[in-house]
Amino acid sequence: MEHTLPDPEPGAILVRVLSSNICGSDVKNWKGGSSVGVGASKSCQGHEFVGCIEVLGEGVTADYAGQPVKPGDRIVAAYYITCGECPACKKGRYDQCENAYIHLGQSPEQFPFFSGTFATHYYVFPKQHFYKVPDTLPDDLAAGANCRFSQIYYGLERLRPVAGETLLIQGAGSMGLYAAAIAGEKGISTIVIDSVAERLEMAKRFGADHVVSMADFPTLEEREKAVKDLTGGRGPDMAIEVTGVAAAVEEGLHHLAPMGRYVIIGTNTFAAQATLSPGYITRKSLEVTGVARYLPEYLYKSLQFLDQFQHKYPFREFSSATLGLDALEEGMSMVGEKKVIHAVIVPEF
Ligand SMILES: [Zn+2]
Ligand SMILES: [Zn+2]
Repeated sequence: MEHTLPDPEPGAILVRVLSSNICGSDVKNWKGGSSVGVGASKSCQGHEFVGCIEVLGEGVTADYAGQPVKPGDRIVAAYYITCGECPACKKGRYDQCENAYIHLGQSPEQFPFFSGTFATHYYVFPKQHFYKVPDTLPDDLAAGANCRFSQIYYGLERLRPVAGETLLIQGAGSMGLYAAAIAGEKGISTIVIDSVAERLEMAKRFGADHVVSMADFPTLEEREKAVKDLTGGRGPDMAIEVTGVAAAVEEGLHHLAPMGRYVIIGTNTFAAQATLSPGYITRKSLEVTGVARYLPEYLYKSLQFLDQFQHKYPFREFSSATLGLDALEEGMSMVGEKKVIHAVIVPEF
């Protein structure tokens, strides 16, 4: 499909896409089972990207961190809009903006035609936060900052972590691994639970202090004991759920120490159901919250973190495949069938 490039309106930017990751939610949308109500057919997909500024709309002189921008600069943008006017935005909770997705999944027939990053170009809308990419941060790492990395960073900070506390991470997928690295740099002691040995090995390389294998401890009772043993009998001060398995939430409630804080991130569809024992929340006075997107400033913080620690943690050792735009469907299948963790679409491949 071809379109003439749009002229950016005031506050918007036209970028040339350098690299775009296929995210799990792209695959969901592509299959038609969107978590945000975006239809699969005739909609622009792709949101984890890094692009090079081609045309700046009137009034755009700096990114949302105040760094001056000019054509040729590399940028990343949050995948949603921050309207600034809805009740959530007025409270500063931009992560819950009610108008976040007004442009997402727009038809490629509708102006500005390039509202998804699986294309040669992408249109950054007015009120869509964007940040300049540090010169030393490569495209492939920068592209991933905009989705999972920023979300887990924000999710972790929603727990108000204090150095010396303990964090339980349920799930050693990419988000769980990122959580281990970010928490470790904050002086938090981490325990990672997963069932796959290779993922737990990876967790250690991302700085996890302890790992608990579901293969070695198949029942909840056994895992409860293992986690208690690692935390002086109290349980962890905080826990993060990034499994996408609803039953993990019940387990998290069991593990937490009294007055523990819990953030649920992985289980994000309304259809996911599990049994729950609210008594654990009551008796231990737990704080439970959920995180679905992130505050835009976390995209900036993520770029800085990735730049600073890109050589310390094995970010680039996830199995990945790099493909051209014409192989987009193949990439979607590879991610959907978990043949690779990352599939990267490079338009000029
Ligand atoms: Zn994503
Ligand atoms: Zn809003």
